[in-house]
Amino acid sequence: MSTTRTAPNVPQPRKSVLSIDAYVPGKSKSDKVPTKYKLSSNETPFGPSPNAIEACKKMAANLELYPDGTAIKLREALASKHNISANQIICGAGSDEILSLLAYAYLGEGDEAIYTRHGFLVYPIAIKAAGATPIIAEETDCKANIDTILSCLSERTKMVFLANPNNPTGTYLPISEIRRLHEGLPPHIMLVLDAAYAEYVLKEDYEAGIDLVKSANNVVMTRTFSKVYGLAALRLGWAFAPSPVIDTLNRIRGPFNVNTPSIETGIAALKDEAFIQKAVEHNALWLDKVTKALEEMGLKVTPSVANFVLIHFPENEAYSAQNADAYLLERGFILRRVSNYGFDNALRMTIGTQDANRAVIAHLSAFLGVSEPEVS
Ligand SMILES: *Cc1c(COP(=O)(O)O)cnc(C)c1O
Repeated sequence: MSTTRTAPNVPQPRKSVLSIDAYVPGKSKSDKVPTKYKLSSNETPFGPSPNAIEACKKMAANLELYPDGTAIKLREALASKHNISANQIICGAGSDEILSLLAYAYLGEGDEAIYTRHGFLVYPIAIKAAGATPIIAEETDCKANIDTILSCLSERTKMVFLANPNNPTGTYLPISEIRRLHEGLPPHIMLVLDAAYAEYVLKEDYEAGIDLVKSANNVVMTRTFSKVYGLAALRLGWAFAPSPVIDTLNRIRGPFNVNTPSIETGIAALKDEAFIQKAVEHNALWLDKVTKALEEMGLKVTPSVANFVLIHFPENEAYSAQNADAYLLERGFILRRVSNYGFDNALRMTIGTQDANRAVIAHLSAFLGVSEPEVS
């Protein structure tokens, strides 16, 4: 073989791939003591609906058969629940897969995609994996700022990723602001609205973005079964998008990217509306109680509308987030360090069961040496 270039002696990935910091999931156990409560990944404390568990068990008898690659039964169930067209829905192995597919299909070398300072870390991974350049728009008080996002637009911009509400901050933007963002985008730039926590938001000025997708050619909304539906282990997500986008993603997704247990379990979970309502009500109640109790202890909490809170610790080294994390871990409570999101001195806590929430409050007040707040 004649070649003038010196070939590397091992296979080399694209340069952009090596620039990626791999996603680090929340800790799932303490090294020292048995886990009492895992409050690190925004999983629901209620698990899935019993009907969903039953559906999943049933499917164990048919594992030799390939799934329906179009997931039509699930898409129809989603379509009827949200009053949208099944033809404009795509399902994926978690919404993470769909976010990646969007990046692979629409971004490449030389393109830019915007996300916000404390935005979900899957976005820069997907953007870089596609060879494109992530551009960070600063936030205001841990909240996305539409004007700042718009000021980041360039001739190279192809996509804007926005989690609404955002993880790990828990903040949200009203639909009027999302519409203002959309109006500021040229029609060739795609707006990806990641509504992973939409079910939890009870604010009247909030919408996940369904009507916006219906009326525009460049808006995609992604959703997940991992959070309030309690099916994180199955990996099931979906997107509602304009037909040309669905057609594009269908060309590059794995032909059987969603498995049969996920399809059947997802459908059963969707149908149990009372179960979901209970989880949402519990969350609203405890989000409020936990926030107030933490504030009473002198901690700063970013106002959240999701199923978690971002807790900021005092400057005093003794009471740092790192020390609080270690203190809680020793007692079997796992919260989430968020240094990789740019919050060196904060922890993210998922709203748990009543017992879990009360215990974290008790332990944190002991850690801080303040009196334990009354939680009704
Ligand atoms: C949890 C979460 C998701 C869901 O990811 P899946 O792949 O569907 O489990 C998506 N976006 C954000 C912002 C999240 O926090």
